[in-house]
Amino acid sequence: MHFVIVDEKRQNRQNSFGLERGILTCNECDTTKTGINIGRVILYSSGLLKILSVKKRSSQARTLSLQSDFLLLKTQIMQKSLLLIVSIVCFINPYVFSQKSDAEISGKRYKRIVVRGATVVDGNGTPATGPKDIVIENDKILRIVGLNPVAVKAGTARRPPKGDVEIDAAGKFVIPGLINAHGHTHEGRGGIPMEVEYCQKLWLASGQTTIRELAAPSKALKWREQSEKNEIAAPRMFVYTTFPGASSQEQARQRVREIKQKGFDGIKLFAVDRDIMAALMDEAKKQGLRVAHHTGVAETNTWDDIKFGTTSIEHWYGIPEAAIANGRQNYPSDYNYSDEVDRFRYAGRLWREADWDRLMKVFDAMIAAGVAWDPTLNIYEASRDLQKAQTDPAYKDYLHPTLEKFFIPNPANHGSYFIGWTSTDEAYWKENYRIWMKALVEFERRGGLIGAGEDAGFIYKMYGFGLLRELELHQEAGFHPLMVIKHATGNNAKILGVEDRIGRIRVGYKADLLVVNGNPLEDLKVLYPTGTETIVDGKVVKTGGIEWTIKDGIPFHAPTLAKEVREIVAGARRNLRAQ
Ligand SMILES: [Zn+2]
Repeated sequence: MHFVIVDEKRQNRQNSFGLERGILTCNECDTTKTGINIGRVILYSSGLLKILSVKKRSSQARTLSLQSDFLLLKTQIMQKSLLLIVSIVCFINPYVFSQKSDAEISGKRYKRIVVRGATVVDGNGTPATGPKDIVIENDKILRIVGLNPVAVKAGTARRPPKGDVEIDAAGKFVIPGLINAHGHTHEGRGGIPMEVEYCQKLWLASGQTTIRELAAPSKALKWREQSEKNEIAAPRMFVYTTFPGASSQEQARQRVREIKQKGFDGIKLFAVDRDIMAALMDEAKKQGLRVAHHTGVAETNTWDDIKFGTTSIEHWYGIPEAAIANGRQNYPSDYNYSDEVDRFRYAGRLWREADWDRLMKVFDAMIAAGVAWDPTLNIYEASRDLQKAQTDPAYKDYLHPTLEKFFIPNPANHGSYFIGWTSTDEAYWKENYRIWMKALVEFERRGGLIGAGEDAGFIYKMYGFGLLRELELHQEAGFHPLMVIKHATGNNAKILGVEDRIGRIRVGYKADLLVVNGNPLEDLKVLYPTGTETIVDGKVVKTGGIEWTIKDGIPFHAPTLAKEVREIVAGARRNLRAQ
């Protein structure tokens, strides 16, 4: 093995932080055959190494061989740790200098990918472990190799052979690909078109490898297939379609059979009468279709979900409703459910009317019946703090103008109900959240299954960002970050009925995993495409972000996808100005 090592300008060799700079390359690492790549590095006295850039061989470069020129190297560089670093870089991860660019790698299928040196958080709520090398072959996790950190440092660790793609995850976290239990793929809002890639790419850039599409158009079946074949950059989809309503039990059964025939994975149910629900739920069970229920204010509430075996309750309304002592919320006489200002205003006063003891009976019955809860906390957030929702800094680069227009208060657009929204409304909603969050923690403590979904495309929520915000709100509710990640991975896989295939980092499972810059257990914000900020040497530095979203064994470079989304947004804004 040969190296080229060049000292940088003498005056830069040592600075007050004890850094030593040099330029280094490894001949064997060069796969481009067009010349030897040289990486510029910072060597910290602690033995840490940071690669600053890659450039062509310089004329002053000197070639040394590790064995014969060890002493020469040592005296010339005067830094013992450099040799260690050189050996780590060249023996363990020689590919950092040689691989194609991340953008070139992104979005293609490879036979073998090795993710090296990761700290792993699984989707079952257990603590982080590592360092580990994860070997992916085609679409599956083939091996997970636990490493001895001392041997890794010494360069003597036995590690799996090289992959077609090597991903350096040293100092990074790997978590399962996130599952969004409540997604909507939108091609337009309020009658104005919007590129479908906008939401699909935002989801991937935000680490969402699977979407439970609720209330999908038939077209979603095509997207499901295209995603499966990797013809589009989009998450894996489970497509549930809206139950179209029925006037008789027989018609309800017929409609369920039609939904099955068309190839949908499940049913999204809204407000429904009891006799119709009884028939459709029975037929759905026979057809093997799962049911997600957005219980509106209707004849039926959570007691019916318990009785008929709904898979998951979306949002929350039917749950406190089932626990109100006299059976009906205390609406004012001029309340009209069809008026969204009324609907959302008084929804904010619903949890306070639930009787806690009755609520515990509802919870225990839900748990006994296996009814899960996908609370979508994020989608109501504007109701408790409208100004915060309207001024999200991420809008600057990521808010599509079509979505921006849809969010402007307008009775014609669902969820754009902030007309005369008052501090009193916000105060009620803040209380509503406090009770709701306390209830969620109690539900899980008693054995309930909690999922995580976003419902973005409404009420100031952008795709992808919505689910990540949902995770933050689960943390705010009082769940440990390990459990928060479990909600969006292992638990959501159970809600989908695919917990034997996805939602975990486990041998034999689908290779759905995220390589994250930073520790999401310390700060869930590191998952956002916008990343976070930190101070290094007195300067503000952008950090965090998901580096790789690996879906079905296909590595997507998340910053590249985020850039593509920003370009879609910028293009749509330009078009709008030109009109
Ligand atoms: Zn929804």
